Amino acid sequence: MKTIYLILILILIPTLAHSLVSERSFPALVRNDQERPVIEDVILRDLESHDSFDGSYFKIVLGKSDGAIVFHSSKELLLKAATVYHHLTLARRYFVEKMNSSYVKSLPKMVVRLELKNQFSELGHFANDNLNPQFNNALTIPEGKGLISKGIKPWGTEIWFRPTKKIHLRELNVQNIGQQEFTGILAVFRRQIQMQSLQRFLASSVIALTQEGAPSPFALDNLIRTMGSSLIIEAGYQFFDPITRVLSRKWYQLDTALIPEIIYHEFAHVALSDYLVLSHSTPIIEGMADFFAGEMAMSPKLAMNIKKYNTYNGKNAQRKQDYMLQFESTDYANTDFVFGLLWELKNILGEKKGAPFMFSLRKKLTTNSSIRNQLIEGVLQTCEEECDEPFVNKLQMLKALNLRGI
Ligand SMILES: [Zn+2]
Repeated sequence: MKTIYLILILILIPTLAHSLVSERSFPALVRNDQERPVIEDVILRDLESHDSFDGSYFKIVLGKSDGAIVFHSSKELLLKAATVYHHLTLARRYFVEKMNSSYVKSLPKMVVRLELKNQFSELGHFANDNLNPQFNNALTIPEGKGLISKGIKPWGTEIWFRPTKKIHLRELNVQNIGQQEFTGILAVFRRQIQMQSLQRFLASSVIALTQEGAPSPFALDNLIRTMGSSLIIEAGYQFFDPITRVLSRKWYQLDTALIPEIIYHEFAHVALSDYLVLSHSTPIIEGMADFFAGEMAMSPKLAMNIKKYNTYNGKNAQRKQDYMLQFESTDYANTDFVFGLLWELKNILGEKKGAPFMFSLRKKLTTNSSIRNQLIEGVLQTCEEECDEPFVNKLQMLKALNLRGI
């Protein structure tokens, strides 16, 4: 009897598995032809479930849950789950098809968490619920062994999107900036930028106040924490409009699960993690992830902003930023500089060669590589192996780098 069941199961499993892979249409946030953020129906592919966001490559879950988000969830959650699923599918396809990454192709199904406030714990997966809850950012975590004795199961590489928390700019004490819209604050950041990241700039110039006017007990860092460079944040900032309409300009918030550039940035961390391990943030790991987020976004407007404002060689950057030793340390890490540097080298190599070149470059780098030594050395070595005219191209790139003090 048992054998018959076993045979039946063996026959049925492949048929079932095949019939379960399906497509389904959902509203998601995308850019339209004018690069405006709009909510549009997209087709989600490779779904393995008929009633939840469980696909062949991604399983979208809520918070610490193990089960995929079901299709009869709230409209707001569905929009986030579909947007994340859609853009992750595009990002995966970019690395498998355009970058020929066998590593990405072989990755097991990835768990993607929405609305998760917990900090990451290397040992426990999730840190204690009330330990510095996180908002307005996203994070890619490395896999972990778990702790069977404590009931903590092993986990794979995961992407976490934090809940959004709105801060009205009126409620903030913005030092030396006055009452500004967020775009105004970004403009000030560009003028003052010396050797700090947007994160440091915001943390030092904006003091969150409670309604009584006393400094907020909420660590500001948990409310305003940025991922990637100011250019990526700015590209994402306009994504509030379709949802929050006019008010958005007076609010600081990042609903990272609804911002394609940030979704691409996080998946780029995963795709690069065969060489750039996900231990901590450094200028190299963030700059490389931003480069691919910019490539995947394929947004001429973003490209123009990078050209205009990047601190490395931006035409409109008020103070062009020469290399400083302080850039090497994480505290002063200015990801805009590395992002701008890689973007400039891509332009020297040409649109077609640029991205595959940067993807090969990861093999010469580690998360802890320095800009001045390993990054530049890696660029020259990669050029030796992949440039059409290594001698000429290396000279062109060295010349550009020298102009920025490297
Ligand atoms: Zn990052």
